[in-house]
Amino acid sequence: MSDTRHTKVLIIGSGPAGYTAGVYAARAMLNPLLVQGLEPGGQLTTTTEVENYPSFIEIQGPELMVKMEEHARAMGCDIEGDIITSIDFDQRPFVAHGDSGKTYTADSIILATGARAKWLGLESEEAFKGFGVSACATCDGFFYRGKEIVVIGGGNTAVEEALFLTNFASKVTLIHRRDTLRAEKILQDRLAKNEKIETLWFHEMVEVLGDDNPKSVTGIKVKNTQTSDVSQIDCAGVFVAIGHAPANELVKDTLETHMGGYVVTKPDSTETSIPGVFAAGDLTDHKYRQAITSAGMGCMAALEAERFIAEQEG
Ligand code: FAD
Ligand code: NAP
Repeated sequence: MSDTRHTKVLIIGSGPAGYTAGVYAARAMLNPLLVQGLEPGGQLTTTTEVENYPSFIEIQGPELMVKMEEHARAMGCDIEGDIITSIDFDQRPFVAHGDSGKTYTADSIILATGARAKWLGLESEEAFKGFGVSACATCDGFFYRGKEIVVIGGGNTAVEEALFLTNFASKVTLIHRRDTLRAEKILQDRLAKNEKIETLWFHEMVEVLGDDNPKSVTGIKVKNTQTSDVSQIDCAGVFVAIGHAPANELVKDTLETHMGGYVVTKPDSTETSIPGVFAAGDLTDHKYRQAITSAGMGCMAALEAERFIAEQEG
């Protein structure tokens, strides 16, 4: 049996952008093939309540993504559990290689590989990753029942993680380098009302402290960003929530990127610098980075892929 599959539209990524592109491309009778990657469902599978995706007043992130997958499948999108490791943009059709050993050839490609959590880059952070240092509260919060933990960051993710972690921890300290949060006002309000959360303004983490046997976190060192004074906070867990960077590994040497690695698309379009290659969602969006905007761009990419293929065939 051949390990090569051909498709008119190869969609890479299974977040809101990828699945929405799948729905639209399938309804255009393009028989799209979607490759899910390492994180089927994307970033929303790492959160709990989603309250701003229209038509759901409140829905769990993983449930929303299961519904999107079901929707794409029901429309006829073919979904493959593989990870794309490289793409040859010089050949026509394009050739993508999967970690499974499969090869995918495609007349057009929709890149929807989203974004990944950023890290501070401290040596001690790296040393204790998985042993008390995490970037996913929903994945690891359960291990900190009755313990004191810290969350680093001041955006929506940091505040949501801090709120979620109060379900387990005895105390959560949110540490932010300024005295103004980026998080939405409704989240800031919930933060202020939560008695288990203390906010430490004007501080940044400079070191994670811990034991080797067993390997575990015992505290952190923080620096006051105004006075440079260094102090210590005892804690059993550190959640780093300082933002996300575009997952551009497949294309960063081929496609134009800007603003820290986001793939450049033409104005009001998902077209990239290579005809037939489209980019949607957090991979290209440095501004909004929401589920609904990613879904919208997935729709745009599929409509543009449809037009591109029609022109090629015409
Ligand atoms: P992603 O969701 O990042 O999905 C990327 C996909 O690409 C994944 O499926 C991954 O497996 C796949 N992929 C990556 N590399 C490869 C590869 N090489 N081969 C194949 N597949 C690959 N937004 C909201 O609107 N409301 C919220 O409440 C909300 N809460 C959030 C909570 C948290 C904790 C986080 C981190 C984000 C939250 N967001 C929220 C933002 C939202 O999750 C993102 O804007 C959205 O998921 C981006 O969608 P996407 O499709 O571009 O990419
Ligand atoms: P973000 O909005 O970019 O915020 C990152 C935060 O981390 C900022 O407060 C930033 O500080 C801080 N930070 C960055 N680098 C740092 C460093 N080196 N040291 C210390 N602090 C640092 O990222 P995010 O919160 O992950 O959100 C990403 C996107 O997903 C956003 O568009 C967000 O709206 C979306 N999202 C939405 C929801 C929701 O709708 N409910 C939930 C989660 C995420 P400064 O403020 O000083 O720059």
